Amino acid sequence: VKAVACMREEQTTRAVIGRCWPDGVDEELRAHASSCPECLEIVMVATALREAHDEAMRDTHVPAAGQIWWRAALRAHTDSVRAARRPIVWLQGIAAACAAGLVMALFGSAWPVLRHASAAAWGVALPIADVLRSAMPFALAVLACLVVTPIVVYFVLSDD
Ligand SMILES: [Zn+2]
Repeated sequence: VKAVACMREEQTTRAVIGRCWPDGVDEELRAHASSCPECLEIVMVATALREAHDEAMRDTHVPAAGQIWWRAALRAHTDSVRAARRPIVWLQGIAAACAAGLVMALFGSAWPVLRHASAAAWGVALPIADVLRSAMPFALAVLACLVVTPIVVYFVLSDD
């Protein structure tokens, strides 16, 4: 167990999340990651999470909320790795984070928790979350109109 976290950890995480890994990063960071256990682990975990995320996005079409949950999940993972490096615990953690994240993305009922979790390192995502949340009543209203209007039209026309 290392007392101090790797200084390149944030850089490595951002590269994988930003889909720059491995081709878009400089040779030096790749060389570092291949010899640094923490960065190597981040690359493996982040790649797996990214694939799980892509899979989920193909099935459920919730792009912005999905971005936020999986970044929060990765962030939670790297924090927990610093605290305790027990493989089984964090594998369960990833599974739990994925499940929790999917539920959150689908129901959108945990905005404050997501915002708090992502606020530490992912400030850019927050305005998107705010926009989505404020747009949600409008989207629901539009959806309601789309459902109600044909029914109203049907009854109006059938009276004739
Ligand atoms: Zn490192």
